[in-house]
Amino acid sequence: MASSSLRFTQPTFPNSILKTKTNTFFVSKNVFPTPVPNKGKASNAHAITKLACVNKTTEIAACNQIIGDVNSKLMPLRIGIIGFGNFGQFIAKGLRRQGHFVLATSRSDYSEYCKQNGMQFFRNMDALCEEQPDVILVCSSILSTENIIRSIPIHKLKPDTIFADVLSVKQFPKNLFLEILPPGFGIVCTHPMFGPESGKNGWNGLPFVFEKVRVTDAGTQAEKCTQFLDIFEQEGCQMVEMTCEEHDRHAAGSQFITHTIGRILSHLNLESTPISTKGYKTLLQLTKNTVSDSFDLYYGLFMYNVNATEQMDNLDRAFETVKQMLYGRLHDILRKQIVERVPMQGELRTKSINSRSYLTDKENIKKLASVAIPEINLSDAVTVSSPR
Ligand code: NAP
Repeated sequence: MASSSLRFTQPTFPNSILKTKTNTFFVSKNVFPTPVPNKGKASNAHAITKLACVNKTTEIAACNQIIGDVNSKLMPLRIGIIGFGNFGQFIAKGLRRQGHFVLATSRSDYSEYCKQNGMQFFRNMDALCEEQPDVILVCSSILSTENIIRSIPIHKLKPDTIFADVLSVKQFPKNLFLEILPPGFGIVCTHPMFGPESGKNGWNGLPFVFEKVRVTDAGTQAEKCTQFLDIFEQEGCQMVEMTCEEHDRHAAGSQFITHTIGRILSHLNLESTPISTKGYKTLLQLTKNTVSDSFDLYYGLFMYNVNATEQMDNLDRAFETVKQMLYGRLHDILRKQIVERVPMQGELRTKSINSRSYLTDKENIKKLASVAIPEINLSDAVTVSSPR
């Protein structure tokens, strides 16, 4: 289809430009109506009646192509969020920024919040599923996810619905989806590596991990999946494709450790001081970020990631090693004093003043230096403290 054979009405606003692989079309603004549930192509066909195709022979083909493009690429997605708490609301704002429709349901009632933010709230899962969203995005706590997924009335959804999740662990929802969802359903497991605190100034440059676990090329599922992932790409996220298993290995050694250190620090009740260093300020910030997440989330990171226990053990060993390095040195000093009768620094000075015969000043300093800085080999310290 050559672009020269077609002429369309002048653009009425800047968003009304349709790009196909071969052509750019100017379309009136009616082409993006609020989608009517279950109407699909019919409502879009109605919307493009203002296109003026001058060449009759190419009119139908052109319009069909545009309908196809509008349906598969440019129609906003209807995304049903399940679990509309802290993170569900945060992610919903990004979906709205990218022009998609947000439908939400949750254990608690967020209807007022949704009304104020141009989203639709449904009191229960049945009502949300009857709307047949393109994508179901699971944003519930890790701990509640299995019960929630098992209670979804799947038969009410379209047979090619895409299921996505944002859980901070990945192998668990992947296996759960594969076990429960009918084969026609698409599965995309994702983990935005940021949250309401770290992403409050935008998502640009923040990592977004995903695995297309099961996406079929038949129908529009693959295109909708791309459209869904494009939301995060358009927001500037650093898109990282990796398997859920890989994710969990990396996350246990990074995210879980970060949360654990933050949780430990929170028990110290650290406060800002007039002489806080940059490092200390970073620790205060880490503590603040960590405790702003629910304990359920942290427990989920531990319980639902097979690699977390190993990291907890590593952390335990590392702490013991550091303690050993400090106390080991102290023990050496005390041992020298008790067994070898090497006097302590204060004693030395007193004795050297009181008794000239004990040791000369020069000898004192040499002896002290050898006691104060015993030659501890770092690898010895690790071996001593790592019986496991
Ligand atoms: P969360 O405590 O992990 O989850 C809270 C959500 O789970 C709320 O929507 C809550 O519903 C729902 N929920 C909790 N217990 C439930 C139960 N027994 N039955 C039904 N629903 C229940 O906190 P979150 O920060 O909002 O995290 C949500 C998901 O996002 C988690 O899977 C988490 O791993 C993931 N995530 C979080 C972050 C982050 O920075 N926070 C970043 C990336 C991914 P109600 O609000 O209706 O009570």
